[in-house]
Amino acid sequence: MKRSIFFKVFGGYLLIILAFAVLVLVFSFRAIKTFYLDTLSHNLEDLGRSLKFKAIPLLEEGRIGELDTFVKEFGKSISTRITIVDKEGVVLADSDENPEIMENHKFRPEIYRALAGHKSQAIRFSDTVQEDMLYVGLPIEMKGQVAGALRISLYLKDVNRLFSSLRTNIWRIVGLIMVLSLLGAFIFARSLSRPMKELRFASQRIASGDFDAKVLLKSRDELRELADSFNFMSEQIKELFTQLSRQKEELDSVLSSMEEGLIALDKNGEILFGNDSFKKIIANDRIEGKSYWEVLREPKFGELIRKVQEEKKNLAEEIMLKERTFLCSAAFLPSRQETVVTLHDLTRIRDLEKIKKDFVVNVSHELRTPLTAIKGYIETLYEEADAKSRNYLEIIRRHTDRLINIVKDLLLLSELEEKEFRLQTEKLNLKSLIESILKIFMPRIKEKKLCVKLTAEDSLPLIEGDPFKLEQMLINVIDNAVKYTKKGKIEISLKKEDRNVRIEIQDTGIGIPKEYLDRIFERFYVIDKSRSKKLGGTGLGLSIVKHIALLHNGDVYVKSTPGKGTTFTILLPF
Ligand code: ADP
Repeated sequence: MKRSIFFKVFGGYLLIILAFAVLVLVFSFRAIKTFYLDTLSHNLEDLGRSLKFKAIPLLEEGRIGELDTFVKEFGKSISTRITIVDKEGVVLADSDENPEIMENHKFRPEIYRALAGHKSQAIRFSDTVQEDMLYVGLPIEMKGQVAGALRISLYLKDVNRLFSSLRTNIWRIVGLIMVLSLLGAFIFARSLSRPMKELRFASQRIASGDFDAKVLLKSRDELRELADSFNFMSEQIKELFTQLSRQKEELDSVLSSMEEGLIALDKNGEILFGNDSFKKIIANDRIEGKSYWEVLREPKFGELIRKVQEEKKNLAEEIMLKERTFLCSAAFLPSRQETVVTLHDLTRIRDLEKIKKDFVVNVSHELRTPLTAIKGYIETLYEEADAKSRNYLEIIRRHTDRLINIVKDLLLLSELEEKEFRLQTEKLNLKSLIESILKIFMPRIKEKKLCVKLTAEDSLPLIEGDPFKLEQMLINVIDNAVKYTKKGKIEISLKKEDRNVRIEIQDTGIGIPKEYLDRIFERFYVIDKSRSKKLGGTGLGLSIVKHIALLHNGDVYVKSTPGKGTTFTILLPF
């Protein structure tokens, strides 16, 4: 059962007030009764003392009858019983009874003590009047001697009547105090619980999305501080929420205006969100809540998602969807195990690339025959020309050779880039292959007085490769080493490594500045155009090298120090 603050505070107060009231009543009754009886006794004592002044002369003069009459009148007028006895306890006068028929009172406790010279009081049952009474006894001294005793007594029922009216008043006062205290407790408990209630309502409103909820308290206590903090907090939340909503709106509009398709998948592959472009791509509007494979039945796409979720890393792949080519980039979000996939339409780019490639291939094919013819005619003309014309013909031949090389390299690159291209592999001994290649370069090596060294480990394994393509690859690298080395040496080493054969071609040539190292494998990239042209370079050589190495599942790296030399490392798996 829920116990509200109000009931806790109010209930607590109620218990305290009740306990307090009971204690007050019990102790106050007792104390008041004692105090009341004491006061009464003192009053009776005072009364007795004043009575003695009247009684003593009558006693001394032996006017006992007058004494009795006086006692009876006086006793009646103050509703108090008065008894006077002599020193033997014989009743001389009594306000309520005939003294002659009354028995000896010597041994009544209050009289006994009074006759002994002490004042005394007692509450006891009176045999004479058959009632509980309050007695006060006083000695009567005459000529320095106790000559009798005066007793004043009150009916206890009168005392009790007085006392009970007092008790009723106390009850009333305590009752009034209790009611006022409870009213106070009620107001206090409510003043505590009301702000709490307001705070609770306000938090419920905030929880349900109403951030305008405010708690306004008039008090100046901690609760007011709490309310102020609450209001500040709700304002902050509102601001944050507005900011988030604005960001979400912006994100939504960015996502929906994106040309790329985008979907977010949960860890089970269920679509959480898909933008308009994605819906357009798959021609389906209702995708949220469905599994991605329900809306996109492309095995390669499924494979990509599965791999991303299993390996928990970002991957991208070109995939054909509905006869269009898309670059599908899948990003894994570790915090929520979600996957976000963007689909970038590459169809136009790929079409253009194909047109460009076809154009390059066609042009290269078309150029090859006339260039070969031109070269043939230059050779013929060269034989018959004079020295001056030979000079010109030499230049024409050099440029024709360069053109032929470019056409040859372009055709080779196009061939390597063909989707259907397959390597014609066989078991190869790399050492013999390099030895035969070096023979081609011997005249130039000798001409440049270069020192060439080939070292190979004895246990070098045969590799599975395409001999013509590998030959082409190695020719390009060794050709560069010879081309760009003026003096010094070229060292070629072959080593077995893990799963690869490592070919290192190290020269002591001009080297390559660090900033160009990343770019030299790009198509047509040359560092020094005029030097490359002069040396018959095309800028395609290293691009071909990289292609061939990758087609063999290998790779190629370069390290170089300008002015000191360059090392190309080719890894080929065996
Ligand atoms: P190129 O036909 O001009 O040699 P490559 O693609 O073979 O084209 O090489 C690209 C560029 O890399 C070259 O222009 C050259 O500047 C640089 N390069 C390649 N190999 C070496 C080398 N061994 N020493 C110095 N520079 C080199």
